[in-house]
Amino acid sequence: MKFVGAHVSASGGVENAPVNAHEIGAKAFALFTKNQKQWFSKPLTQESIDLFVENCARYGFNPKHIMPHDSYLINLGNPVKENLSMSRKAFLDEMQRCELLGLQLLNFHPGAHLKQISEEECLSLIAESVNIVLDKTKGVTAVIENTAGQGSHVGYKIEHLKYIIDRVEDKSRVGVCIDTCHSFTSGYDIKTEAGYKKTFDEFERIVGFNFLKGMHINDSKKELASRVDRHDSLGTGFLGEEVFKRIMNDPRFDDIPLILETPDDSLWEKEIKLLYGLVE
Ligand SMILES: [Zn+2]
Ligand SMILES: [Zn+2]
Repeated sequence: MKFVGAHVSASGGVENAPVNAHEIGAKAFALFTKNQKQWFSKPLTQESIDLFVENCARYGFNPKHIMPHDSYLINLGNPVKENLSMSRKAFLDEMQRCELLGLQLLNFHPGAHLKQISEEECLSLIAESVNIVLDKTKGVTAVIENTAGQGSHVGYKIEHLKYIIDRVEDKSRVGVCIDTCHSFTSGYDIKTEAGYKKTFDEFERIVGFNFLKGMHINDSKKELASRVDRHDSLGTGFLGEEVFKRIMNDPRFDDIPLILETPDDSLWEKEIKLLYGLVE
């Protein structure tokens, strides 16, 4: 069974996210548990936590299908010591927020080397960051997202994800999120049937589907291997509809959150319907 949703707004409080998700017919959702443009926000209140849990139960959302996203400011592979330490502190805070909300996943973009260190050094720093934070928390899995490889971002190759996982001590609390737009613009041609098969066979061989904790379902405004991260609404970008039909009929993507991060939120309800309509 597929659990499709979107990265919904949590404005006014995290407790609003499950309500917003329910209103668009979602069976899964993503959210920011704090203002994503700030390093730190006020702690979650007990009232907000209780309401979040209550609303999730009311609308039938299982923590397994809720995939919070961390702040875009965080760079767990930052080559500058003070900035790395700030990122680690902020990531720990995000993990602890998830713990308080009874959530199991925290999705993050691995990081960027800022042209100051090698990709490998950056990936090693990221793994070290994950180890430090996992050590101080319980029950939440760090979910590494593949990237488009824009700028100096690492994580645009399946091998990068594997490199980090290999260095994380607690393998039971590290996972992966595949973003369809990022896959395509980083150079994996999932648009064609042969490319789709090759990419996910490679993913199985290198990382393994047991590590796949979620997907971001986005079309792409940019072409294959452009290394640019610009999401598009389903069916209007370079990816087209076929790949989403394959995903919706592929049991390897069962029982994980399939999250839309498409730019026009007024279309989400329609896009969720469209995706379920592709199931054969
Ligand atoms: Zn994404
Ligand atoms: Zn993106």
